[in-house]
Amino acid sequence: MTALAATTRVGAVLGSPVRHSLSPVLHNAAFAALGLDWVYVAFEVREAEAEAALRGAAALGLAGLSITMPLKDVTARVCDELSPQAASLGAVNCVVIEGGRLVGHSTDGAGFLDALPIPVRGERVVVLGAGGAARAVVAAVAGAGAAEVVVVNRSTERGERAASLAGGAGRLGTLDDVPGAGIVVNATPVGMGGGAGDAGEMPCPSTLLRRGQTVVDLVYHPVETAWLAAARDRGATAVDGVGMLVHQAAHALRLWTGLDAPVGVMEAAARTRLAAG
Ligand code: NAP
Repeated sequence: MTALAATTRVGAVLGSPVRHSLSPVLHNAAFAALGLDWVYVAFEVREAEAEAALRGAAALGLAGLSITMPLKDVTARVCDELSPQAASLGAVNCVVIEGGRLVGHSTDGAGFLDALPIPVRGERVVVLGAGGAARAVVAAVAGAGAAEVVVVNRSTERGERAASLAGGAGRLGTLDDVPGAGIVVNATPVGMGGGAGDAGEMPCPSTLLRRGQTVVDLVYHPVETAWLAAARDRGATAVDGVGMLVHQAAHALRLWTGLDAPVGVMEAAARTRLAAG
C-alpha cells in the first residue's frame, strides 16, 4: 500500500457480519499492484442502517463499494440506477459512485462464468440452492447459452423463482437430475467450515457425480470441501469457490477504476489468506 495521504481514495465492503470478509485482502493487493493511491476497508453495517450508510458513502465520495450479506437486496432498492443484471436479480454486490449517485451492479454471475474452465453454451447445468448466489449463477449460465438450467432446492417456491431467471431454459428439478448434468454447482452453504456448519456435510450424495462433469463448489471456506474432494475422486473436474470470488471482485475493480484487474495477484492474496486459516 502507498502511504495514506489526503489524496488517498477509499473503497469499502458493507455487510454484517463483515469481519471475515476477504474483500479487503483482494482489493488492497490489487490497488498495490496497480500503484493506486487507494485503500479498501470493511464497515459493519446492519440492514436498518443500510440506506444511511450508502448515502453517506456517496456524500463522502467513496471510490466504490462492495455489498455483502445481508445488504444485497436493500442496496438494490436504494441505488439511483441499476445495471440490467442487478435489476433482474433485485440484488447488488458492487456500487459505483458517480457524482454522488449510487449505481448498482451484480458481478457474481460474470465472476462465476470467468471462473468456469469450460464454455457453458449447450451444457445442461444443475444448480443446488436458490439463494442470492444461485440466482446470479442461474441467470448467468442461461445468458451464456446453457441448454438447460435445473434448480434443485430445499424449498420449492424459492427454487421455482430462481429457475424462472433462466426463462425457457429453466426448471425446478430433483437430485435425479444431477448425473445427467454436464455442470453441477453447489450454491448452498452446505460444506462450509469455520464454525458456520458441518464441513463434512455434502449438498448431494457424491455417488451422483461422475467422470466428464464439471463440479463447482461456491463454498470457499474450506477451499477444498469434502464434496469437491469426492467429486475429484470420482473423476469429475473440480472447481473451488475462490475463482468466482476473485473474478467477481475483478469485475468490481474494473467498474470502479476502468483498469484491468490484476487477477493473478488477487487470487494469490486470497489463497494465501485462506491457507492461513
Ligand atoms: P443464501 O441466499 O442464504 O441461500 C442459501 C441457499 O442454500 C438457499 O436456497 C437455501 O435453501 C439453501 N440451503 C441452506 N442451507 C441448506 C441446507 N442445510 N440444506 C439444503 N439447502 C440449504 O446464501 P447465498 O448468498 O446464496 O450463498 C450460498 C453459498 O455460496 C454460501 O456458502 C456463500 O459463501 C457462497 N458464495 C460464494 C461466492 C463466491 O464468490 N465463491 C459468492 C456468493 C456466495 P432454502 O431456499 O430452502 O432456504
